[in-house]
Amino acid sequence: MVTDPKPMKFELRGLDGRFTNELQTIAQIFYPNESFESFGQNIRGEVAPDEVNISCVREGDMLRLCVRQGADIRAEALCEAAKMPLKLALYGALKAFTGRKPAWGSLTGIRPGKLALDSLRRGLTQPEVLRLLTETYDADEAKARLALAVALAEAPFVAADDPGYSLYVGIPFCPSKCLYCSFTSYPVGKHSGLTGTYLDCLEKELEFLARHTHAKAAPASVYIGGGTPSALSAGEIDRLLGMIAARFDTAGAAEYSFEAGRADTITRDKLDVLREYGVTRVCVNPQSLHDTTLAHIGRCHTAADFARAFGMVRAAGFRTINSDIILGLGSETARDVAATLDYLAELAPENITIHTLALKRGSRLAEGGFCPADAAQARNIEEMLELSASRMERARLAPYYMYRQKNSPGSFENVGYSQPGHESIYNIQIMAEKQTILAAGAGAVTKLYNPGTNELRRVFNVKSLDDYMSRIDEMIGRKAELVYD
Ligand code: SF4
Repeated sequence: MVTDPKPMKFELRGLDGRFTNELQTIAQIFYPNESFESFGQNIRGEVAPDEVNISCVREGDMLRLCVRQGADIRAEALCEAAKMPLKLALYGALKAFTGRKPAWGSLTGIRPGKLALDSLRRGLTQPEVLRLLTETYDADEAKARLALAVALAEAPFVAADDPGYSLYVGIPFCPSKCLYCSFTSYPVGKHSGLTGTYLDCLEKELEFLARHTHAKAAPASVYIGGGTPSALSAGEIDRLLGMIAARFDTAGAAEYSFEAGRADTITRDKLDVLREYGVTRVCVNPQSLHDTTLAHIGRCHTAADFARAFGMVRAAGFRTINSDIILGLGSETARDVAATLDYLAELAPENITIHTLALKRGSRLAEGGFCPADAAQARNIEEMLELSASRMERARLAPYYMYRQKNSPGSFENVGYSQPGHESIYNIQIMAEKQTILAAGAGAVTKLYNPGTNELRRVFNVKSLDDYMSRIDEMIGRKAELVYD
């Protein structure tokens, strides 16, 4: 019987509450918009992890999930080892209850490629990894193959012993705010008086990172993101890239990416500056090549503007161009997406990144009450993903990095495709989480990786532009604690 997900509360009986978060994450695969205020903790212990049985009963607006154990095991049995069997049991119960088979099965992490790569490195063969994903986690065969393909593409870039580091610099200005945007982004027109002060703060933070971290060697990759860094003037970009080059050996980096994401910000003099400082990879992102969609999402450019900007970037001679698109914008159908991809295929960027629309807190889309978890929209997105994968194969672009969106319909994946030899090192490293990322700017997150312990420690900068600038010494102090302890 297929049961439509309806608003309801959840109660889980039979546990002592230790795995509430993990089990809630499984329940959210099937009920992504529900609250779990009544997740119960009314019976303690005595759960046999390998014989657990979870049943679902709907009573009014309450879904009761009852755990029954098949043997008399004492409370200590409810240990870490019980987590996976419990999650799988709840997944199986909800799958039977709803009659729905999620494409990614019971996988809830945002990096399925990482699970596949870790499994390969633990000695599993490729068929064994596929079986793990399809049989244990119940992922569709196509999703399992995608995760494995991404893991195999990532493997040569993810070093085991000396991974080095990458540098990220965030520029939180854009020409306008896109409808779906939840990033740290301020309209540059309104804030033009602050860009100089922002660059002053960045310089201070970069100076600290260059002097006091293990940034003596050249970074493996450099990424200038945001926001839209090309929203700055050519003179400001010159200052930005100059201050980075003065402190880091950017010439020694294997990849130097610059987000010129909005076609309406790209000019010849800005591209000349990027060339002068050795930028190798430029992102020019249309998101859609339908003018009605572009107007709907608040971009200030047309498809023709994008094509002109793309031509300018191509003529400037950068090694790699990346173009992003988003599936699920406005009222677009799979046919609309196909038209965008066909147009893009003629321009032949070396990288195409395909995102699925996510509802993120802070976006105008979320504030407007849009609900992307609607079942019809989820089917629409799945069809677009399948179509995109076949179009990428036809264009001879292979998947090389991937992450799943939280709050995306069906928690679908975002996938980066690349011509061979043009895979973005930075994108791979950010997903693999096996390299230190030194990050400067509002909302930037520095990640310090310890290869000895395989631990990653995060240091967050505040997101607000005003807070970042007024509290720049505190942002630096946060990193000092980690560097010196
Ligand atoms: S270009 Fe990117 S960062 Fe800027 S408003 Fe649009 S989604 Fe946000």
